[in-house]
Amino acid sequence: MLPEMTLLEALDAVQRLTDLPPLLRARVLKNIVRYFLLNPVEITSCPFLENQDCLIYENRFFGCRAYGLWSPEYYEKIAKSSRQAKRYIQKQWQDLGVSLPQNVINCSIPYCSNVKRTDHKELNDKTLLDAANAIENLSQCFLPWHELFHRKYFSDLSFFITALIFGVTGSIQIKFTVVRNIVNNRDRALLNKIIEEVIDPLGNLP
Ligand code: SF4
Repeated sequence: MLPEMTLLEALDAVQRLTDLPPLLRARVLKNIVRYFLLNPVEITSCPFLENQDCLIYENRFFGCRAYGLWSPEYYEKIAKSSRQAKRYIQKQWQDLGVSLPQNVINCSIPYCSNVKRTDHKELNDKTLLDAANAIENLSQCFLPWHELFHRKYFSDLSFFITALIFGVTGSIQIKFTVVRNIVNNRDRALLNKIIEEVIDPLGNLP
C-alpha cells in the first residue's frame, strides 16, 4: 500500500518516475492509475513494487522507512486512525449507492516486529515523530501547494498523478464509474480500457 506523504515526498517520487526508462515508466504509471481506481474495491499492492523489489527504494517515503520502527502502541494509534478513515470512506460510497467489499475495509497492514536497526542505536517514537515533523517543515517551503496536496489530494500520490492525466474532477468521475461498474455489475471494461489505452505507452506525463 502507498503510505500518506507530504508534497515534498510526492514531488520527489514524480522526479524518480521521470528518471525511469520509458517502458518501465509507462508500466509504473499504469500501476499508479490502477491503484488509484481500484483501491476501494481490491487490496492492491504498492505501484512501485515489482518482482518483490521497490523501484524507488533509495528514495522511498518516510511512511515506508518508519514501518516496523514505531512502538506497538504508537503503531496501533496509526492503524486505528486508518480504520476510522476507511469506515468514513465506506459510508460516503454507501451514500452513493456503492457497497465496498468488507474485506477491503477491514484490511490493515499488521505490526511488524522483525525490523531491527543495524547500527543498534536507540530509536523511539519521539525520534520518528521529530523526523516526520522535519519533513513536514521542509515541505511547507512549498506553501500553498503543500497544504493543497493535503486538502485537495488527501496526501495521496496516486490521486495526484492520476489527476495530472485526467484532471481532478475527471479522476473522481472515472473512479466513481469504475468502482460502481465493478461492485454493482462485475464489469471491468472501463478500467481495462483506461489502463490499456489512455496512458501514453512511453509513460510521458502531460
Ligand atoms: S518501500 Fe517501496 S514498494 Fe514498499 S510501500 Fe514503500 S514505495 Fe512501495
